[in-house]
Amino acid sequence: MVMDKKKVEYYKKRLVTTQDELLRLVTKSERDGREADEEATQDIADKAANSYTKEFLFHQSDENRRLLQLVNEALERVKDGTYGLCVSCQGEVQVKRLEAVPWARHCIECQEKQDLGIL
Ligand SMILES: [Zn+2]
Repeated sequence: MVMDKKKVEYYKKRLVTTQDELLRLVTKSERDGREADEEATQDIADKAANSYTKEFLFHQSDENRRLLQLVNEALERVKDGTYGLCVSCQGEVQVKRLEAVPWARHCIECQEKQDLGIL
């Protein structure tokens, strides 16, 4: 069963807000990474700190990029009219789960299977 339009609109708004926020963060961390490069000096301690910062920023933007991908996919499902359905079993994703993670691809059962590596 497909979710009613009002509900989909509500989640869509939340997804768009998250998408904006993530885009901002990803762009920012890419810029920060470049700035860290430009500020690089010959001092070894500085260099170490700099590469640590870069690694941290890189990891962060990686996470954000991954999340952004999930959000984009969820918005695609809104467009396709399949939002709220588990991509694996096509069952309904629990409302409680969508409240916590509006970009969830799987229902709780399938997510658990995926976490265990059996999906
Ligand atoms: Zn499922």
